[in-house]
Amino acid sequence: MTERSLSDVEYNYKLINERIADAAEKSGRKREDITLLAATKTVDAPTINHAISLGLDHIGENRVQELLSKYELYNLVNCSLQFIGHLQTNKVRQIVDKVDLIQSVDSLRLAQEISRQSLKHGKTTDILVEVNIGREENKSGVFEENLEELICQIAELEGISVKGLMTIPPICDNKQKIMKYFNNMHKLFIDISQKKLDNVSMTILSMGMSDDYCEAILAGANMVRVGSALFGARNYS
Ligand SMILES: *Cc1c(COP(=O)(O)O)cnc(C)c1O
Repeated sequence: MTERSLSDVEYNYKLINERIADAAEKSGRKREDITLLAATKTVDAPTINHAISLGLDHIGENRVQELLSKYELYNLVNCSLQFIGHLQTNKVRQIVDKVDLIQSVDSLRLAQEISRQSLKHGKTTDILVEVNIGREENKSGVFEENLEELICQIAELEGISVKGLMTIPPICDNKQKIMKYFNNMHKLFIDISQKKLDNVSMTILSMGMSDDYCEAILAGANMVRVGSALFGARNYS
C-alpha cells in the first residue's frame, strides 16, 4: 500500500459510486437502492480499511484462509463482512460466526452445515443461493430448474435464512450476451419472489462485477460486487 494507491482507491470509489447512481437512475431507482460490495481478495487490510473510511459498507472475501488471516485487522464497525467464494462444507464452522451473509450457497448439504453451525452460535445466518445461469460445467451454482426446490428445502432449516440470489455469469465478449444472463437472473428473482414461499425473502439480487456492474444494475441487480475497478489489478503473488 502506498499513498498513490490509496488516492487511486479514493478516485475509483467516487467514480464507481457515480456510475452506480447513473445506472440506478436509468433503471428507475436511486443510488441508495443499490449496495456496492467490494470484493477484497488479495487486497491488504489497510487498503480495505481506507475504502471503509470513505464510506464503503460491504466487503466480501472469497477464501476462508484469507478471511481468517485478515479478520482481526478489518475495521468492521460500520461494515458488513460477507463470504462470496466457493465454500467447502468442512470450512463453514471457521467463518459462520464472523460473516453477515454467505452469498454462495448451492447445495442442501452446505445449507445443512450452515444451519447446524449457526445454531451452535445461537444465530441465524443470511444466505443467497448461487445460480449457475450459464450452465457451465465445473462452475458453482445451482441450475435454474433446481432452484425452487433447493430454496424450499433450505427454507425448512433453522438457523439459516434465504435472502436472495447471486450469480457469476460466463465471461462474455459483448454486452448483449451478458445482458441476456442478467435479464434471465432478474426474471428468476421476480418469479421466485412472486411465489411468496414460506421463510424466503427475495430482497437481494447480487450480480455484476468490475466490467459489467452498470449492465447488471440496468437488468435489476441491487447488489454489485466490484474488485479490480476499485482496488486495481489483483496481485496474486
Ligand atoms: C473477485 C470477485 C468479484 C469481483 O471481481 P472484479 O472483476 O475484480 O470486479 C466479484 N464476485 C466474486 C464472487 C469474486 O470472486
